[in-house]
Amino acid sequence: MFPLKYHEPVFRPPSEAHSFLLQVTIGCSNNKCTYCDMYRSKQYRERSFDEIKKDILDSYHYFKEIHYSPKRIFLCDGDALGAKTELLVKVLELLNKLYPNLERVGIYATAQNMLEKSDKELALLFKLKLSMVYLGLESGSDEVLHRIVKGNKAHEMITGSKKIMNSGMKLSVIAMLGIGGEKYSETHIVETAKVLSEISPHYLSFLTTMAIKGTPFYRMVERGTLKELTSRKMFYEMREILDRIQANKNIVFRANHISNQYPLGGTLPEDQGQLVKTIEAWMLETPVDVYPPKPSTM
Ligand code: SF4
Repeated sequence: MFPLKYHEPVFRPPSEAHSFLLQVTIGCSNNKCTYCDMYRSKQYRERSFDEIKKDILDSYHYFKEIHYSPKRIFLCDGDALGAKTELLVKVLELLNKLYPNLERVGIYATAQNMLEKSDKELALLFKLKLSMVYLGLESGSDEVLHRIVKGNKAHEMITGSKKIMNSGMKLSVIAMLGIGGEKYSETHIVETAKVLSEISPHYLSFLTTMAIKGTPFYRMVERGTLKELTSRKMFYEMREILDRIQANKNIVFRANHISNQYPLGGTLPEDQGQLVKTIEAWMLETPVDVYPPKPSTM
């Protein structure tokens, strides 16, 4: 039986579905974003190296018995790049030693985490195969970022992202459709497209914002202080942001998360025109007053 007892709940990006998940931190050091309920049950802390080492060795013995050697590892929880570099280095060194065929280590990060690491530290981590970083940008609008209590401004998202990419690591950025509600939809469109153009990450994905019970975002919707977007308006945001992105290098785009109304994918700028046309076709067949399905009905 797999020996690790995770501190639940555990989350990972869809593209890390086949990775070995290892908790380096517990929870999220921000844990304030109004729409997010992922780590609300957890108190943030960095695990000790001894704790993590035990997990690494226990799983190593288990993997050895089943003749398995993970090629991809994902470091959890919500912003594990915020852990001390010294700790991350020790963890990565041990993983590299045990798994010489290791290809890539992924991690979630906030812009704050990225800004707090020096270029030298990032270069060292990259050398130890930390090579895929996931950033929840959500929006490029400072107004929206402030309202969702994201903890960083757009210019910090840009600076942090560039640091990551300059270190050699790949960057995957997540933006959220509908995160500003109706009131801030236009500024969300314009500013998010600008920031995404400026960053031009290796990977970009769109998620659809859902009001999850227990979150401040849900309460705002319930009280009528935030008006959610209809399905058609979500498509409109998606079309507008995609259409306005001016990528300075290829961006692999995906909107295939469970929250998305229909799956969509391609490479920017090559497929940009076709992606926009597909969304326009969806808009035409979507009634004006329909809302995306709620999590409980999906
Ligand atoms: S930074 Fe990420 S994990 Fe943390 S509260 Fe915000 S959305 Fe949730």
